[in-house]
Order: sequence, then C-alpha cells, then structure tokens
Amino acid sequence: MSDVPAKPAHPAPPDGRPTGAPGRIGVFGGTFDPIHEGHLAVARTARDAFDLDLVLFVPAPRPWLRPRGPVVPADDRLAMARMATMGERGFDVSSVDLDRPGTTYTADTLRDLRKQYGPGPEFYLVLGADSIRHLDRWARVDSVLRRCTLVAVGRPGAPRPSELPDEHPGNQARFIEGPMVDVSATEVRRRLAAGESCAGMLPPAVERYIGEHGLYGATRAAAAMSR
Ligand code: ATP
Repeated sequence: MSDVPAKPAHPAPPDGRPTGAPGRIGVFGGTFDPIHEGHLAVARTARDAFDLDLVLFVPAPRPWLRPRGPVVPADDRLAMARMATMGERGFDVSSVDLDRPGTTYTADTLRDLRKQYGPGPEFYLVLGADSIRHLDRWARVDSVLRRCTLVAVGRPGAPRPSELPDEHPGNQARFIEGPMVDVSATEVRRRLAAGESCAGMLPPAVERYIGEHGLYGATRAAAAMSR
C-alpha cells in the first residue's frame, strides 16, 4: 500500500477561507442582448486560463455606452443568461446591477460585488478585446483597475491590448487569444428580425425563449427553422 496520502477531492483553500468559497471570481459584464455562443466561449476561455472558481455573468440594465439602450428588457436578458449558463462548470449570473438605479458603471458593479463577497476573492474583469479600446472613456477607470485584474479575450477584428497606445488603460490587460468566435448580438438581432437562421450562434434554450416570447422580431417559425 502506498504511504502517499490521497489528495482530497476539494482541498481547503490555503488562506483560511471556508472550503468552497470562491478564491478567484471572473466578472463578465455585458448587455447580453441576447447572450450568444461568443459570450460563452469568452467566459470558458477566461475560466480555464486563470483557473477561476466562478465566472459571474452580470447583465447591465442601462449600459452607459448605449445611449439608445438595450433592445429587450433587463429581466428577459437576465432570464436568457440564466438559461445559457445553467449546468456550465463555475458559471453563474448576478443581478447586482439590476438593483441599482441610473446608468450602469463597472466601478459600481465591482464595489457592490466586493460588499457581497467580502475581502477574500480576487476579481478578474473579463472583457472582449473590442471593449478594451473604450477603457479610456470609462467612468472612474482608476477605481476599476484598482479593484481587479483586467482580462481581454480575443475577438475577430479587435486589437490586442499591446497594440493600444502606451498610456491607454487597456494596455494593462492580460490577453488570451481564445477561440475567436465571430458572433455578435447585433448580427443575431439582425438575423432574427430578418427571419434568418441563427444556427450555432445561440444556446438552444435561449433560441427557444426568444421564439416563445417573440423577442427581436423573431417569430416561432423562424426560431424553429434554425433548429
Ligand atoms: P452588440 O453586438 O449588441 O454590441 P456584443 O455581441 O458585443 O453586443 P455585449 O453584451 O455588448 O455583446 O458584450 C459583452 C462583452 O462580451 C464585451 O466585453 C464584449 O467585448 C464581449 N464579447 C461579445 N461577443 C464576443 C465575441 N464574439 N468574442 C469576444 N468577446 C465578445
């Protein structure tokens, strides 16, 4: 018999956190209008590259970068995010931004998540590489950078953080190329409104929800066609 002690299935965290408490949390904010396979690929890439215990998808009710606002209400976007992430290892959805009135800013998201999770976990803010280039226009970007490690995942057509000017805050992001999934919510919405197939772009449960609720101009027939 070997005298090497068996490795426990869930080793206790070294810093006194209760077993099972997440040590590294990915914070993945977005409009998710709707959530699509590109979002899921980004979250999986970040989870696996940074050994994240949890990736929180955080739908923004009123993202500041979208003056005309999202297309469908936050409750529908939240419901679709829950369906898309159900059963995925380490994925969860946070409604932290829905409880706050006014425009949604990431600095507030991180502050409120810190209150919720306490001082223990490290936060990794996950962004697509296209979002990194807007960082110099974010509200209270210094506060954001103090509160998290910035992670950028590659997106077709978007620059790498190292291609940004030296003084750009996006330069600090840790970059992972990832699988480069060429899907956008804009293209999904266009296809749904035109009655075109979204095969392979949406998780099946999300596609069903969109068809059943007639979101984005989708009809039941179009939603059924792309399955
Ligand atoms: P829209 O087309 O409406 O602008 P979107 O597809 O970019 O939407 P968002 O909800 O605005 O989706 O994005 C949330 C986050 O996910 C952002 O950081 C964005 O850069 C990132 N993201 C979305 N799709 C991809 C993708 N295919 N590859 C990499 N990152 C992505």
